[in-house]
Amino acid sequence: MEWWVSMPKIELHAHLNGSIRDSTLLELARVLGEKGAIVFSDVEHVIMKNDRSLGEVFKLFDLIHILTTDHKTVTRITKEVVEDFASENVVYLELRTTPKKNDSIGMSKQSYMEAVIEGLRAVTAVDIDFIPHKINTQDSLNSIAMNDACDGTRRKKTYVRLLLSIDRRETTEAAIETVKLALEMRGLGVVGIDLSGNPDVGEWNTFLPALKFAQEQGLYITLHCGEVPNRQEVQPMLDFLPQRIGHAIFFEEEERRQLKTSKIPVEICLTSNIKTESISSIDIHHFVDLYNAKHPLVLCTDDAGVFSTSLSNEYKLASTAFGLGKREMFELARNGIEFIFAGDDVKQYLVGAFDSAAKKLN
Ligand code: 5GP
Repeated sequence: MEWWVSMPKIELHAHLNGSIRDSTLLELARVLGEKGAIVFSDVEHVIMKNDRSLGEVFKLFDLIHILTTDHKTVTRITKEVVEDFASENVVYLELRTTPKKNDSIGMSKQSYMEAVIEGLRAVTAVDIDFIPHKINTQDSLNSIAMNDACDGTRRKKTYVRLLLSIDRRETTEAAIETVKLALEMRGLGVVGIDLSGNPDVGEWNTFLPALKFAQEQGLYITLHCGEVPNRQEVQPMLDFLPQRIGHAIFFEEEERRQLKTSKIPVEICLTSNIKTESISSIDIHHFVDLYNAKHPLVLCTDDAGVFSTSLSNEYKLASTAFGLGKREMFELARNGIEFIFAGDDVKQYLVGAFDSAAKKLN
């Protein structure tokens, strides 16, 4: 197995509906085609298209949501997405999704999220830990040892935590409803809030009351920031001091300076940035500047399905494009432990898992 697949990894920026297998999307489209709800041939080439502008990506999401927004399918895709990440040795996954409401099928934001949780419970391929509880240090060391044992009984373990996304099309009231739901579902592994959706839609001030409320209540916050040039937003987003930001592409010099001073960790999504042409070539990606400045960074997939990538592939890509070796990539992955939205006990477990994997690194 290649080192970028076998090494433990931490995924902190993955959208549920962007991470679906193509085969599942095609199967769902075929079923809806047979029911006459869509024309399969029209949809097939949209799903299989490789490069898309950022605008086209959001049109694709509207289509994906038509295919996936029912409780049974939400459960299915959650299970598959978690199993796919676990199969490439993601030991800690923060999965984000936008709770959806659809009266015609009796779906509320809460029932949508219950379907997601059902998907986590349905995972059988690996052990999933998603309900926060105090982890006993000895148990956790035993469990790392178990994972290392080559005795045929080895079970992989992946920690999963959930972030609820606010879509930039939503109103202040809808955003607050999402934050309230996150608070109610804290005991079920929901740890934070993400602001995402088409960056050309909506205004920062619309979401600010909900984000402030979330912050006051102690939820972790990550914001899609600087995905498109927007002088009105980058500065207030940095001033807000979220625990992390995603992308950080279109920053003026002064904003980049502020980012570096603030030490807000950045979720870097290389393939996504290149495929949407937000960045014209990987050689000029801001990863290099931030990495050289020792700014906190974590490599992520964004939408592994939509952009036909995987977290392993992102590590391989960064290693090749930026001339970083296996050890440097391992350290990069390990540094991500610091920025996860989970407690010290989970962090401690992950340190143990990376220490154990480091022994096998040659
Ligand atoms: P979902 O929240 O439905 O599980 O995942 C898909 C949604 O995530 C999209 O409709 C969009 O709101 C958000 N999303 C996925 N990828 C991106 C991205 O690259 N940028 C932004 N701003 N939002 C995204």
